Amino acid sequence: MQLELLWELQELDLSAAALKRKIEEAPVKSGISEKEEELTGLQDDYSAMEESLKKYRKTLRQLEMDEQRIIDDRRELKDKMYGGKVGNVKELEQMQHRMDQFAAEKKKVEDRILELMELIEEEEVQIKELAEKIKKVEDDLAEMKEKLIVDLDELNGILSEKMVEREKMVDKIDNVYLRKYTVLAEKHQGKALARVENDICGGCRVFISDGQRGKLYNQDAMVYCENCGRLLIRFEGQ
Ligand SMILES: [Zn+2]
Repeated sequence: MQLELLWELQELDLSAAALKRKIEEAPVKSGISEKEEELTGLQDDYSAMEESLKKYRKTLRQLEMDEQRIIDDRRELKDKMYGGKVGNVKELEQMQHRMDQFAAEKKKVEDRILELMELIEEEEVQIKELAEKIKKVEDDLAEMKEKLIVDLDELNGILSEKMVEREKMVDKIDNVYLRKYTVLAEKHQGKALARVENDICGGCRVFISDGQRGKLYNQDAMVYCENCGRLLIRFEGQ
């Protein structure tokens, strides 16, 4: 009877240990850190694009100012040319040449402005998409974290139930058996007891000697495997 209780205790302790491992591994297995890495990557991309957009917009503003300056200069020159005060043909020719230069410069600046506006438009679409992606990952992450909390709560609940059950079980077991169990469990990764099946120790798979086998007919005798040292237990009919 004592050995059977001890066996039950071992089963309980093994399942509790498995549960503890599951609790420890839950955060890793939840995939939260991978998701967080993904989020950081997206946020970095977003910052880089924001920076690039800022630069483009700044350049655009400068180009627009350049354009305005050219327009102003050209108007001033035009007023002078057609103001009737310049009679010198040579001077008028030079002015006309300057007008042509202004036109070319204006065209160049306008082309660059258009090019830049297209780039800005493209990046604005991309950054919008990126923001949506970030929002999605953030939502997923929140959901995953919530699920982890629920899962951990559940696992911890089961574990504490097991611990209560253990307390009750321990009360029924003699100290001599308990102490032996504790020492052996520590030594054999929780498997202090080994079941004997077909005269083989379930712990180390070695045949038990005739002498040990004979002792096993006493249900409460503490018989140890001569090979691995585990406490042997023989269930009825085996
Ligand atoms: Zn053994």
